[in-house]
Amino acid sequence: MKIAVIGSGAMGCLFGGKLQLQPENDVTLLDAWPAHVEQLSRHGLTMGTDDGEVVIPIKATLPAEAREAADLVIVFTKSMHTASALETAKAAIGPDSMVLTLQNGLGNIEKIAQHVPMANIVAGVTTMPSDLAGPGRINSHGVGKTTIGSALPEGAGRAKIVADLLNRAGLETIVCEDILSRIWGKVAFNSALNTLCAVTGLPVGGIGQCETGRSLARKVVEEVVSVAQRKGLSVDLEENWAMVAKALDEHGSHKPSMLQDILSKRETEIDTIAGGAVAEAEALGMAVPTTAVLADLVRTIQHEYLK
Ligand code: NAD
Repeated sequence: MKIAVIGSGAMGCLFGGKLQLQPENDVTLLDAWPAHVEQLSRHGLTMGTDDGEVVIPIKATLPAEAREAADLVIVFTKSMHTASALETAKAAIGPDSMVLTLQNGLGNIEKIAQHVPMANIVAGVTTMPSDLAGPGRINSHGVGKTTIGSALPEGAGRAKIVADLLNRAGLETIVCEDILSRIWGKVAFNSALNTLCAVTGLPVGGIGQCETGRSLARKVVEEVVSVAQRKGLSVDLEENWAMVAKALDEHGSHKPSMLQDILSKRETEIDTIAGGAVAEAEALGMAVPTTAVLADLVRTIQHEYLK
């Protein structure tokens, strides 16, 4: 299968690299970072995993240099770059291309639907971990699972094709019929843990060991889940809180990506994670005060270094 990955950082290289290792696939990585693209093209992708390090020869270009439509396009930019990346790399997307997004945050499906019919879109969530260690190099240690589903019921066959492709590449994937509920569940999780860690500078365990931290996390999960439920999605509060509570108990020293972004003075995904949930709440006339304050605090912190 001809595959293009738009946004080939930590996650795009992980998925693109594993797919390229299957002889059936022809993967092109598209990324806006010239030094990364050059390293990938000249020396391949260096991928460190628990099984050791491999170097994977792979095609890589700048997004504007994409020339032909792929059978499958995987979008893996940070969510605030989805729209601009799709516009620049639009030659990679044809009318029959399937498009997969496993990005965090809300609004990615709608932005992709500006370029392909909604029935071509497969979306989901992944707990696979990956870090970009430098140009052409990623590390992915530990295990994770991916859950995907079609954006519309008539696209169910496409979700199955994509799941089979990912499983053959060793990326454990299941298909779920109610994918929007899973996406909102992850938004609730990230709205609680990413924002609290980003604002306090504490790792997940630092929030988990403090009663006020746990209570704030619980409030955010309650608020975000209530918005999802008002939208008619079957997102269960206790089930989602249990995942957050488990992380608070077990992910002691983990620094979520939003905290890492703040420490490195990079733009965060706040507008599509907690900020996305707040915007959806406002559109429904609902108040989500704890989530709104945390989102604004993160915006205030990043404004200081992005201005
Ligand atoms: P990343 O920053 O490592 O990679 C994003 C890449 O997009 C970068 O290489 C950047 O150069 C590129 N990019 C930016 N603008 C672009 C444009 N206009 N056109 C093409 N490329 C562009 O981010 P990541 O960690 O790979 O995360 C990607 C998504 O996956 C995010 O939504 C994140 O929340 C989600 N996610 C990450 C992890 C993880 O462990 N890293 C796990 C689950 C989900």
